[in-house]
Amino acid sequence: MWVAAGFVFLLALLIDLAFRLGPELLERRRLQPSLELVSPIDLASLPTATRFDFPLGTEHGAMAYNAQPFTENMHLGDDLNGIGGENSDLGDPVFAAADGRVLAARDGGPGWGNVIIVLHAYRENGARKYVQSFYGHVQSILVGPREEVRRGQQIATVGTGGGKYLAHLHFEMREFITPFIGAGYRKDTHGWLDPSAFIQAHRGAPDEDVGRKDYVR
Ligand SMILES: [Zn+2]
Repeated sequence: MWVAAGFVFLLALLIDLAFRLGPELLERRRLQPSLELVSPIDLASLPTATRFDFPLGTEHGAMAYNAQPFTENMHLGDDLNGIGGENSDLGDPVFAAADGRVLAARDGGPGWGNVIIVLHAYRENGARKYVQSFYGHVQSILVGPREEVRRGQQIATVGTGGGKYLAHLHFEMREFITPFIGAGYRKDTHGWLDPSAFIQAHRGAPDEDVGRKDYVR
């Protein structure tokens, strides 16, 4: 008798839980179509990036400064500026942080202007991992979706998000493989990485290595 009552109670608990979690689980399922945009074949054929560089200024990040670092004011990326400040970096080259493939290169909507997302594969502790670099507010887009890019290749120019901001590059590094744009600010940073810290940790080259040879300001 008591066993049966306990069973009924447990069943009720599970049903209640299913109803509570149901919407969230369905929400995940609704995201599936975008997941399908990056197929296992796409992932397997991604070039393996051996090294990551800063996307603005020199490959070491010189000639640029970070006006709003990751997590400051719930910021999901770094706001990189030319050292001249204000609009002095308008039109400056934006470089791919590493070898990879363009997932998205288009108008990101209000607040963004043009955005580019590049998906990278890299090896860490023997495992193949994926990370995406996100370049926001760019002026000119110089690459197209599915195009393969090389580390240090110019992919865009610094913009103002369609006149919304002083020229700067909003730069994110994310652990996602889906080409979503999202918002630039969020309290929960799960899935986002500290861009500067990630690049510093994945330089793959000594700091005294020469600067970007094709960098012209
Ligand atoms: Zn920003």
